[in-house]
Amino acid sequence: MKDKIAIIAHDGKKPEMIGFLKDHMNYLTNVEIIATGTTGKYALESGLTVKRKLSGPLGGDAQIAGMVAEKKIKAVIFFRDPLGKHPHEPDVQTLMRVCDVSNTPLATNPSTAHFLLMGIYGEK
Ligand code: PGA
Repeated sequence: MKDKIAIIAHDGKKPEMIGFLKDHMNYLTNVEIIATGTTGKYALESGLTVKRKLSGPLGGDAQIAGMVAEKKIKAVIFFRDPLGKHPHEPDVQTLMRVCDVSNTPLATNPSTAHFLLMGIYGEK
């Protein structure tokens, strides 16, 4: 079974996520990507195979948090926008909390996400 990697980007960070996905295609084509709705749409357009959950504000982060709590997710790449306000902030906090509870790797910016993928899969 392929590893599941979750990806989520707040609106202000979606361009960075698209750039990150393009730069890391060689890592991501062999994993199963789980994404919140709109982030997943962009990932699909980038040519990746993606399983989309609900959009973040409608519960997508909470759905992914549930999968993390059940240890179904290998790592989470979550580009948060530290400058924006988010109606679903409690879900965002929940997702980060369950990552810590379950010791699931969580990257919140592209530099860390790069090291995370390199750490799991080696230099590609
Ligand atoms: P989205 O959700 O990918 O559906 O925009 C991300 C978020 O805001 O948590």
